[in-house]
Amino acid sequence: MSKTEQKTITLPYSLSVRELAGLLSTSAVTVIKILMSNGVMASINQQIDFDTAAVVATELGFEPQLFQEEEVVEETGEIPLWRRVILEEDAKNLEPRPPVVTILGHVDHGKTTLLDAIRHTDVAGGEVGGITQHIGAYQIVHKDRVITFLDTPGHAAFSSMRARGAQGADIVVLVVAADDGVQPQTREAANHAKAAQVPIVVALNKIDKNDANQDRVKRQLADIGLQSDDWEGDTFVMPVSAKAKKGLDDLLETILLVADNLTIKANPKGACIGTVVEAQLDKSTGNMATLLVQNGTLKVGDVVVAGEGTGKIKAMFDQRNKRVSKAGPSTPVVVMGLNALPEAGDLFQVVANEREGRAIVAERKAEREAKRHTKRATLEELFSQYKSGQAKDLRLILKADVQGSLEPIMNELEDLGEKQKGLAIKILHAETGNVTESDVMLAAASNAIVLGFDVDIDQGARRLADAEGVSIRLYKIIYRLIEDVQKALNGMLEPELVERVIGKAAILATFKVSKGGTAAGCRVLTGEMRRNAPVRLIRAGEEIVKTEISSIRREKDDVREVREGMECGITLKNFEEFEVGDMLECFVMEKFGG
Ligand code: GDP
Repeated sequence: MSKTEQKTITLPYSLSVRELAGLLSTSAVTVIKILMSNGVMASINQQIDFDTAAVVATELGFEPQLFQEEEVVEETGEIPLWRRVILEEDAKNLEPRPPVVTILGHVDHGKTTLLDAIRHTDVAGGEVGGITQHIGAYQIVHKDRVITFLDTPGHAAFSSMRARGAQGADIVVLVVAADDGVQPQTREAANHAKAAQVPIVVALNKIDKNDANQDRVKRQLADIGLQSDDWEGDTFVMPVSAKAKKGLDDLLETILLVADNLTIKANPKGACIGTVVEAQLDKSTGNMATLLVQNGTLKVGDVVVAGEGTGKIKAMFDQRNKRVSKAGPSTPVVVMGLNALPEAGDLFQVVANEREGRAIVAERKAEREAKRHTKRATLEELFSQYKSGQAKDLRLILKADVQGSLEPIMNELEDLGEKQKGLAIKILHAETGNVTESDVMLAAASNAIVLGFDVDIDQGARRLADAEGVSIRLYKIIYRLIEDVQKALNGMLEPELVERVIGKAAILATFKVSKGGTAAGCRVLTGEMRRNAPVRLIRAGEEIVKTEISSIRREKDDVREVREGMECGITLKNFEEFEVGDMLECFVMEKFGG
């Protein structure tokens, strides 16, 4: 398409795939496919930034333009909740707090090396003798002032965490390698920071390299609106070598200077709120989450809600693994006591008591479930939509072990489509290999179902399918697959039975039982465990066995079920090789779609 025919389109700093499709008057599937061909995996509700959206818009013949900053902030309410909480505090209660800094930049430009180098500038930390452990955030002392660094994973190819990282921080350090210059992720990070209205300090890294060209990079930075201060701009561009540990003091100095020009305050006695930096299950201690306190003071014994987890904080640890009893604004701490793992980027809040915590979580879960059920697309549902005229074709995504099985399946399905008057079977995507996240995303966006022949489902794909409500059917025999599609077309397919997880428990101990055999001492982390219900035992993320719960004991009594937060002894049918740290997932089989 020639330039003159291009229509301009104004896009915000960030928008969801669905919104972009709407603005470009195209389908979300088209957008997802273009993103995929550019190496970006995105689901229909995922936020993408301007640069990424611009690529899609350009491919579709539009000339993209960036929305004005003020309008975006109003439009999308980008001010994070924790900032709003601070804004609502009475000014006289606000006290200065350490600035929170996040390091962003293109892959391989030196983020990790710089974070490590800065960590080691902290002489005080070294003197205390504690080895700093990786908890997703750390604090250093520079010239008697504390700075908090978020150590977020910068390598994810495309991550909302990056956007959230920018939102959790007061200052973004944008790392740009002096030999490689401004790259796509540099622009993306700059846009995230601008969208979140977070000031940027540029760390012009790798100046020790022979092919480093600072002037060239400063020109490129000016082109993306980051005019260097020595070129009469207002962005500090600090030359550093993370590897040779050069320029670090000046960089830290600049960070403090920028911080001084911002009002970085919070009320240590106010409502306690903050962001989840990281969360993981520890084999011996259970759920561990790193929380960055942003307002108020978090204390041992407080009840918090974080994502879909809640609980009373049993213990807190700092970055040196030292027990602490409280943590004020801008302090990262690892907490123990949540009954479920939140996700990085989730907000956390202190609530009045455990009942309130459970109620909030129950509400969040119900919301998510409701969303999931309205979105479910099964073979049966799709067919009934077709019959009622809502859908004009039956959309399938096919995965098979080898090309040799893909072809006959496709041929047979096409034949089937032709035999059905007026009904189109549309194969959106056919490929060899396991069912992956991108298959599920495509299916979610296009209301398709995924059929697999002699393949498995990747773990991430299974989780995503569950969240997005995508139906995946696996087959070992070709004619059964064809038969199912045929039955669906005739509206005769038996409703699919799906697993619904009703509870998870962690195994904390094992012990012999009087009748002989071994029982697992468990704590129910979420939901409930039921006697006689099917259960799977998971070790290090892998399913070890799928069986049934044969007995549950609370103290001395046999019981039918145990709920969240309780401890119990569980025996399984035909399995007793428990190991501490194993997880039990109890589920029920449910019909849907029929
Ligand atoms: P990240 O992907 O942005 O986290 O980048 P890394 O920190 O992993 O660095 C990528 C590569 O660049 C590594 O091989 C580093 O050793 C190297 N590197 C990082 N900083 C410098 C630097 O200042 N000078 C030189 N010469 N190499 C560096």
